[in-house]
Amino acid sequence: MKKLAFFCIPAHGHTNPMLPVAAELVRRGNMVRFYSFGEFGDKIRATGADFISCDPFLPELTKREEAGLKKVSTTEMTIQDIRITLGMNDFLDREFAAFGPDVVYTDSVCFWGKLSAWKHHVPMVVSTSTFAFNQLSSQYMKHGPGEMADVIFGLPRISREMKKLEPYGYHVKGVLSLIQSDNHTDSVVYTSRKFQPYAESFSEHYAFVGPSVFSDILPEKQKERPLIYISLGTVINDRPDFYNKCIDALKDMDAGVIISCGNTMDPKLLGALPGNVSIYPYVDQLSVLSRADVFITHCGMNSVSESLYMAAPMVLYPQTGEQCAVARRVSEIGAGILLRDDSAEGIRAAVQEILDNSAYAEAAAGCSSDFRACSGAAGAAEFIENAPHTSNGIDIVGELNKENAKFQMLYWLTVIAVICLMGIFISWKYVWVIGAAAGVLSSLIGGTVQKRLYQKVLGKGE
Ligand code: UDP
Repeated sequence: MKKLAFFCIPAHGHTNPMLPVAAELVRRGNMVRFYSFGEFGDKIRATGADFISCDPFLPELTKREEAGLKKVSTTEMTIQDIRITLGMNDFLDREFAAFGPDVVYTDSVCFWGKLSAWKHHVPMVVSTSTFAFNQLSSQYMKHGPGEMADVIFGLPRISREMKKLEPYGYHVKGVLSLIQSDNHTDSVVYTSRKFQPYAESFSEHYAFVGPSVFSDILPEKQKERPLIYISLGTVINDRPDFYNKCIDALKDMDAGVIISCGNTMDPKLLGALPGNVSIYPYVDQLSVLSRADVFITHCGMNSVSESLYMAAPMVLYPQTGEQCAVARRVSEIGAGILLRDDSAEGIRAAVQEILDNSAYAEAAAGCSSDFRACSGAAGAAEFIENAPHTSNGIDIVGELNKENAKFQMLYWLTVIAVICLMGIFISWKYVWVIGAAAGVLSSLIGGTVQKRLYQKVLGKGE
């Protein structure tokens, strides 16, 4: 029997996958204490774990902070994460002393879980509800100008908050080391190795246990007419403009349409609905997806995993960098199309393409079988019970960094040599052009070379 401390931020998408893992660990006779928040209390108690409320440590938010969190601002989330950690410090020091956990299981962006594990020298396993991101897989993320500006302008505020951690015994190199896991951090990832981008670059410290979808329902697509399901998830779903375009696009199709619009929007904003369209604030998504032939989705990791689990191909409409990464992977495996034109015509064309071309449904069905063969909550529980882990394979990211450093040195030595030759034999006046061109080309060439080097390093590992 082990004593396990679970930590998570107050978010459904992050908490939900940890619940079946908690239930499995309790079933195996372990003692699980789950540090979370009131709105998740009932679900947590239902797993058999002890629910410890952290609500008193949630800080009062200003209007600006509240708006930032609603927009999923990285700066605001990071700052709140640090504030909660500081607020919980004394409480968690006492808890660690009294409970003495053998392992901490913490969400990947829950700073107070990670920092407490480091401070109290308790083995830690990280729960990753998105893809696992390292320098290779994070290339899949595409950040919009708004997201970039948020991070750049937020850096001074973040670093001011980070400095407050040190006096409490939390030694952190930088915010990235808090968010990204390295190849030595024991991590549970809720997807399959096949679906994870650059899966080979992750060491044995990563357990890919498959999506946290626990349902006995099997896909059942036989019916009179196709079913199209639309949802933008539970966070940024107040989009009557988009739902209206979808309705316009699909009202004349011989298909049923279900829209889940969330609790914040008044469905009356959409006016009188055509006979084939129904709208709800919330649906039993797994059940709808098991019958759906097309899912128009914002590409949240949970929604996409559930869609693939239920063999439903997708029209991909990502809104954030992380969702772009998920969308790109779905199109790579051929189970969906990216919605480049979000006009009514664009939406109709994308839906029609998925309905007409069975290759999308076949790719989704293939992924469904792969997901259903994963080790699931039992695999995650076993991995946590046996932490900390060791790994014997080569560290592919480390090797890649070494190869990259060699390439960069060679590249810049060549550039310097060309500049010198040009200066000596032609003129020094225009050598800056070569320097500027080399700078621009370095990221372009660097990207291609990185891919080649990756293949080379993989070859070494085999
Ligand atoms: N969900 C649901 N019914 C709905 C809308 C959403 O059950 O009508 C669930 C869905 O099954 C998924 C989660 O809400 O598990 C949404 O998570 P996701 O990561 O896709 O997106 P987020 O809401 O975090 O943006």
